[in-house]
Amino acid sequence: MTINGHTKTLGVIGCPIAHTLSPLIHNLLAQILDHNLVYVPFLVEKDLESAIKGARALQISGLNITIPYKTEVLKYVAEVDDFAQKIGAVNTLVPIENGFKAYNTDIPGLYRAMLSDGVVLKDESVIILGAGGAARSVAMLCMEKGADKVYILNRTLSKAQAIADEVNVLKGSELVVPIEIMDYKKLAGRKYLCIQATSVGMHPDVDSAVIEATEFYDLVHTGYDIVYNPCETKFMSLVKAHGGQAFNGLKMLLYQGIIAYELWNDVEISDDVADFVLSKLKEELNL
Ligand code: NAP
Repeated sequence: MTINGHTKTLGVIGCPIAHTLSPLIHNLLAQILDHNLVYVPFLVEKDLESAIKGARALQISGLNITIPYKTEVLKYVAEVDDFAQKIGAVNTLVPIENGFKAYNTDIPGLYRAMLSDGVVLKDESVIILGAGGAARSVAMLCMEKGADKVYILNRTLSKAQAIADEVNVLKGSELVVPIEIMDYKKLAGRKYLCIQATSVGMHPDVDSAVIEATEFYDLVHTGYDIVYNPCETKFMSLVKAHGGQAFNGLKMLLYQGIIAYELWNDVEISDDVADFVLSKLKEELNL
């Protein structure tokens, strides 16, 4: 591409940032769609407020926000999208007249990934493994999309309890039930959609699953691991070995990027383009 006086600059703020795959996603989309923009990583070690103000002054045309700033950045934006407000964490900033408007595309990204894999949340009984930031967002998604019941299994029960309390107040019912992870036997008697939202099993810890006991996997008809490296996590292998279908988190990563790109550039990305970018992500990760 040719960088010239009309080239727009976008980027991702985080710390650390060197591992980010977002420049690959966005610069490839720009190239395919013939958009005159560049997308670069910005390492912000401290003083996020100055970084956001500076980005606005420089008329940066869009930002992603990653770890550890997804919540802190809410203090420095002019507006927050309603769904993002509910989730309490954002990853995308779109310039508006008086600053930036903040969105969460991680969770719509996960939903779009699930739709493309034929995984349905409506009326489903869902097990979420983990109770960190990602698990909390997944619980909100389950509420939004009409899951029938959600069981949050976590090593630290108090964290699962906190998410359950928060979602149940919003929902006005006992939708979410917290369970200590080793008490999974309480769930016997039926099959579930299980979303793996812990960091266990992520490269290089590829030989671990957060629940190793194989009997747990008899409860799972579909396993969705939000980890994407390795391509097939141990959680996924265990689900498949017990007759279930299993997916990884690479499409979630892809679609959070695609939805952000659509917000910044007012375009709709076709499935063919999405598939092409996915193939390039796999190449980059040697998957
Ligand atoms: P987090 O807030 O740090 O939460 C980590 C969770 O993992 C907690 O529930 C923690 O349990 C559990 N955990 C960690 N080590 C454990 C162990 N040895 N045994 C049992 N439980 C353990 O992290 P997060 O932000 O939610 O992210 C979780 C994962 O999602 C990460 O791997 C991240 O890369 C991935 N992710 C993927 C995407 C994507 O686009 N595909 C997007 C966002 C996140 P305790 O509460 O007991 O500590």
